[in-house]
This record gives sequence, C-alpha cells and structure tokens, in this order.
Amino acid sequence: MSGRFERAVFLDRDGTIIEEVGYLDRPERVEFFPWTIDAIRVLNRAGLAVVLVSNQSGIARGFFTEAVVDKVHQKMAEMLAAGGARIDAYYYCPHHPEGSVPELAKVCECRKPARGLVDRAVTEFGVDPARSFVVGDRWLDIGLARTVGAKGLLVRTGYGEREEGKPPNGMKADAIVDNLIAASSWILKNV
Ligand SMILES: [Mg+2]
Ligand SMILES: [Zn+2]
Repeated sequence: MSGRFERAVFLDRDGTIIEEVGYLDRPERVEFFPWTIDAIRVLNRAGLAVVLVSNQSGIARGFFTEAVVDKVHQKMAEMLAAGGARIDAYYYCPHHPEGSVPELAKVCECRKPARGLVDRAVTEFGVDPARSFVVGDRWLDIGLARTVGAKGLLVRTGYGEREEGKPPNGMKADAIVDNLIAASSWILKNV
C-alpha cells in the first residue's frame, strides 16, 4: 500500500473522522460524519497522503484489544472504499502511563502530542512534516502539529467546540474550522 508522498494530512480519528462516542469498542459503533468520505476523497485526489493518527488508551486500560481497533479500522476502510476514498495508513498509540495492561502502561514516544506516529509516516511514505497538516478536535492534536512543525487545524466537531475556548498556554491553531470538509478546503488552498 505504501508509496511516496511529499505531504501528508494527519487526521485524528474520534471526533474528527467519526463521531466521538467515548471508548469505541465495537465496529458497529463507527459513524462517519456526513461529509467524511467527500473530505477524504478530496485529499486523495490532491495527492496528499492521508494518515490516521489516534490515541487509543482504551487498549492500555484493558477496555478493548488491538484486534478490536484493527476491526474498527477495517470497517472504516470498507466504508471509505465504497465511496471512492482511502486512508493510506492507520496508526494508533495503544499506551497510557496509567494503563492496567502491564506491557502497555508506560510513557511512550507515540502518544499524541509526541511525534512517534508522524515519524512512522516519514519512514513509510517519505513525507515532510514541515509541509504537512494535522487535523483534530483537541489541542493535543494542535500540539502534535507544533511538535513536528506542521500546520495544525482544529475542527469544531467532537470535543472541538468545547476546546476552542480554552487553548493551553496561548497555543494557537493555524485555522479553526467547523468540520473535516472545511479543513480539507483550507488545506487545498494552502498546499
Ligand atoms: Mg479526537
Ligand atoms: Zn504509544
């Protein structure tokens, strides 16, 4: 599946691509926003790598297994394919310092806003983070953008509307937009 891309759009999952439902523990609970497939197809056609980057601490907490997360992503891939869209890679962090699964209960390099998941895309696709974008509904997604030198877009879906009013330590997004399709439009104007 891998190819070479100059730029990537790193997309948070919960609250950004799909509805925020708390800990998502069954593929049946996956619900795209009405604009999700269009928004991702537009990015595909613009020649950007589309990379999902998600903190899934529910694995470290013992709420569900990696196999469940993989099934969720499989379901998403099928739904996207039916609409002519594609996520090029599904990366997630299964860790959390306070987890209950011993081998996953640790400080890691891949839990956003740490840069580990972005670095995987650099290795796999050759993308340049400084010419890439991060889209998410939490300030930690914008924090990831700051960490890797990408542009950071906060969406108002999911936790975004609540997050908008309380940026940590004067953090600023490059754009705050209503949703993922608005983020895609902004990105196309700024590549
Ligand atoms: Mg989120
Ligand atoms: Zn991790």
